[in-house]
Formats: sequence, structure tokens, C-alpha cells
Amino acid sequence: MSSREIKKRRVPIFLYHGVSECDADAIRDPIYALPSAAINAQVAWLREHGCATVPLDAILARPGGEEGSCVITIDDCLVSAYTHLFPLLLSAGYRAVLFPVAGMVGRRGWVGWGELDEMCRAGMEIGSHTVSHANLAAIPPDEAKRELRESKKLLEDRLGVRVKFLSLPGGYHSATLTAAAIETGYEAICGSVFGYSRYGADRYALKRFCLRQGDGEVIIRRIMRGAFMPLSPRYLRERGKGLCRRLMGERLYTAVRGALITRGAYKTLPRFPVGG
Ligand SMILES: [Zn+2]
Repeated sequence: MSSREIKKRRVPIFLYHGVSECDADAIRDPIYALPSAAINAQVAWLREHGCATVPLDAILARPGGEEGSCVITIDDCLVSAYTHLFPLLLSAGYRAVLFPVAGMVGRRGWVGWGELDEMCRAGMEIGSHTVSHANLAAIPPDEAKRELRESKKLLEDRLGVRVKFLSLPGGYHSATLTAAAIETGYEAICGSVFGYSRYGADRYALKRFCLRQGDGEVIIRRIMRGAFMPLSPRYLRERGKGLCRRLMGERLYTAVRGALITRGAYKTLPRFPVGG
């Protein structure tokens, strides 16, 4: 296979946040919680069509992996990560990369340390999603560095694993953050730009397909078959949002989004208790 063909190979990184029926206790955005039936159908489709999950490492280090592979990531780690997604993925023979908010582990509505440990031992990978789910691009650089450093250390100390990956809360990103993450020892960063990652992609700017309410197995089928073309309405909408964000800058984007929220343009947004 030519290096050109290898480079072209795309690996979808799917992103789940929660399950509608399980996560009512945690204050978060219901848009990102899918009904269990939808998630079950998506995983069933992957399984029935012989799709495999691969570790995040595989797409970074090993060029030219199998077609039909994907990476599954779970951000936040609300209780459903353990009560629903974990047994579902395990029974399908799948593994995922979990990105818990380190400071929220064990709180009501969130996974506990024992549950995370069990999932690690069953083969799930652990990455960091910071200590408090802060917007790292909006807080002072020293504070952002502390979030990166302390979450990594806490997860490593409590779970006895090496934490190599970072998922950015809200996808808020900057060049300074990348430098800080590398300095802290992270080997890859998952953002929230909607799209395919490729074997040999920029490891500090991995794109993901965030699944949200209303998504069924159709979207999984289209993404896995590479039919999720740039002209599909969903793709255009998501990339349009990303473009606005880049043009406005993270601070302005956050401010405008916040203003829209108070006017009811959005029903809810993630509101994570901070601190402690
Ligand atoms: Zn999050």
C-alpha cells in the first residue's frame, strides 16, 4: 500500500457523553445524552458489520490500520458510562477511552473510583478531562496548567495507569494549551471539531464525531462507510459552528453563546459544579 493510500485512511473517533435515562442526576446538557435504545442500535450496527474498536494509540503510532475500525470515547463519565455504556461495549467486545472529570469522580451522578478501576481492569483506557471541566482557553494560563497537571496526577495515582490523552472541555483550544499539554506529558489531544481523523493525523488536534440526541444508527452507518460527505446538512452545521468559533475566538464565542442561552436560544448547557 502506498503511503498516499495509508494517509487517506480515516478513523472515526466517536464521542458519547451520556444516556438520557441514566444521567438525570448530573446537571448537564441533555442534547448530548442519547436514549439507550439509540446507543444500543448504534453499537449493534457496528458489531453486525464487523467493525472493530482500536485504541487511540493505534491511530497515532501505527499507520494504515484496518478499514472498518473506529475509536469510541466517552467524555465526562457520568454514571451511565458505568451502568450502561460499559456493559454494552464489553458485551460487543469493544473498548473505549474514558475521559472522566477528575474532580467530579464519586460525586452524585458521576462514576466512582471503584467503577473506574473496574473499567480500567476490563481494558478501557483512561484520559483526562481536567479537574473541574473548566474552559481552559478562558482561564489564566497557570490555572489551565494546574488543571492539566493535577487531573493527570490524580487519575494516575488513584487508578495506577498512565494518563496519556487529554480531552478538552467544550473543545476550547489554543496553541498555548497544546504547548502546556505537551509539557505536562500528554501525547494526544481530542477536541470537538466534527470530522474524521486519519492515521497519522495531528495528534494534538484529533477530530471527533460527537453523537447527540436524535442520532440513530444511520449516522454511524454513514460515517463508517465514509459517506458522511462535507455536503451533508449535519456536517455543514457542525463545521459552520466550528468556523464561527475560529473567526470569533473562543472568548467571544463563549460570550455570544452565553448571551443566547440566557435568552432561551438554548434550553440548557453543561453546568458543572466547580471546585472541591
Ligand atoms: Zn465534557
